[in-house]
Amino acid sequence: MSPHGRIFLATPGPTNVPDRVLRAMHRAAEDFAAPPFSETARSCLSDLARVFQTSGQVFCFIGNGHAVWEVPLVNLVERGEAVLVPVSGRFSQSWAEMAECLELETVRLDLPRDQPLDPAAIEAALRADKERKIKAVLVVQTETATGITSDMVAIRRAIDAAGHPALFVVDAIASLAAEPFAMDEWGIDCALSASQKGLMLPPGLGFVALNERALGIAESCRHPRRYFDLNFRRGAMTYQWFHGTPPLQQIWGLRESLDMLFEEGLDAVVARHRRLADAVRACVGCWAEAGALAFHCGVPEARSNAVTAIRVASDIDPDAMRRLARDRYQTALGAGLGDLEGKAFRIGHLGDLNEPMILGTLAACELALRRSGIAHGPGGLEAAIESLALDDAATRAGDPA
Ligand SMILES: *Cc1c(COP(=O)(O)O)cnc(C)c1O
Repeated sequence: MSPHGRIFLATPGPTNVPDRVLRAMHRAAEDFAAPPFSETARSCLSDLARVFQTSGQVFCFIGNGHAVWEVPLVNLVERGEAVLVPVSGRFSQSWAEMAECLELETVRLDLPRDQPLDPAAIEAALRADKERKIKAVLVVQTETATGITSDMVAIRRAIDAAGHPALFVVDAIASLAAEPFAMDEWGIDCALSASQKGLMLPPGLGFVALNERALGIAESCRHPRRYFDLNFRRGAMTYQWFHGTPPLQQIWGLRESLDMLFEEGLDAVVARHRRLADAVRACVGCWAEAGALAFHCGVPEARSNAVTAIRVASDIDPDAMRRLARDRYQTALGAGLGDLEGKAFRIGHLGDLNEPMILGTLAACELALRRSGIAHGPGGLEAAIESLALDDAATRAGDPA
């Protein structure tokens, strides 16, 4: 049977690529040193700083999120020095493994998987570091595996309370352009993101923002590196910004996606994500009443506006349900990852999404739950509609009809 209509992508990356972005990328190759491209690339890098909300510098790498994880590790920390990694899910765990592979002393802080990161635990770990070996604290803002967003301001306060000079490095891959993010205001020294989540682009670009302090440390850092070396990338030539041939079409796509974000307004983008996430949560809350499904995150206010992780009872196979949703109802849901493999599924709700897409995703998911015989409470869709209607009425009360 050949599918009809659009496929619903409800994975927390890659996300939907808007038609505008696809069209902007449909371009012939060109001389990347000529002004049309080089000026566009430069504008993208400086506009990305507006998205990160930093007066620092943004670098672009051809690579995915895993690639940019390596950037702070080889530019800010040397062998013999340490990083502190609070681990609370598959992504933070992989970042810690990468630091170990690169022969950095890696202090893992094993934290509960169903709660946001505990700033007090981070403070205690920093206080215990009497020799000041820890050069960077590596924190994932939204742990995509668990659907939990942690409080970056509270973690900055914890680092300050410990009086520790470590750099604050944040993975904002799943949160940039979905959750609030204010790099300078929040005292973040280095932040990472990737193209295929809130930025609505195809996978393949990674971004790293650094403030003055982090740039200064990168200048003198002696960790061996070449492709990822930020100092080379600070040169005047276009090929230096990308350390080789620039990803031409991807940059034209990035220009378009940045234009879309600024047209909507960054605050409105975040508000839209919250509104759609509230609808998902209203629906899942109803489903959970039958006892077979539950929010993975035990702290309601830490539930991510980008992705919702739903745990299933031990006798349920969430992956069979996901396959049915994908193959029969053209709706791709996220799998449980790490500790949650085979025990959960995830609904991604970030990027280029609107109300009917979210309602369609929830409806298809409920259909797959019903066909799979997975018990779920009634009224989920109704609750999602009610949540969207109430929110709209509240925000548009002053608008003319
Ligand atoms: C998606 C994601 C990554 C990994 O990105 P890839 O592009 O898949 O390598 C890392 N961290 C977080 C928080 C993510 O959501």
